Amino acid sequence: MVIQEFYAGLKTISFLQERLPPFEEVKQTADSIRGKSLPESIEGCLLVDDVHWRFSAEREEESLVELDVDQYPYCPNCHTELERTTDDLIGSSMISEVRNRPFWDCVECDDSWSRTKRIRSDVEKHARKNAEKIIETRGKPFSLDVLADKYREQNDGETPSGKDIWRVYVSEQDGERLTTNCFYDAD
Ligand SMILES: [Zn+2]
Repeated sequence: MVIQEFYAGLKTISFLQERLPPFEEVKQTADSIRGKSLPESIEGCLLVDDVHWRFSAEREEESLVELDVDQYPYCPNCHTELERTTDDLIGSSMISEVRNRPFWDCVECDDSWSRTKRIRSDVEKHARKNAEKIIETRGKPFSLDVLADKYREQNDGETPSGKDIWRVYVSEQDGERLTTNCFYDAD
């Protein structure tokens, strides 16, 4: 009985050995997953408080190491970078907090949006959440490797840029804040 089990075990081992690819092949696969065809950073765009925010997220392997949100958002109408202004046209009879309401102002289309104090930390929070989801997972529909594969499938094997990853992500994921409207320029 024991001997029979021993021989069955040997059979399993030799079966496994036949199934394993040669060492070189394994190494090559690991290398390409590790970074050859995956961008080192991603770029994203979020709609927060009615204006568009651009950010970049740098990775090391599967860790988010640096998150950078642009200082000024973009106009949702014409994609111009917005300026910070304070509304002082309401009148001196108003209490100062109301009179000095902060705004994002577009010099191109003459539109403006109210600006809240905590907006940047809000944007950072949302940017981090999405960036971690992409960078720090593998094999899920929103993971960097899966998004890159999807891009290559649709673009004759071309390597995706950080913006391309975000474009595929937005097309695959539902989210009211997810947008690509910051990427109006040539690339
Ligand atoms: Zn505008």
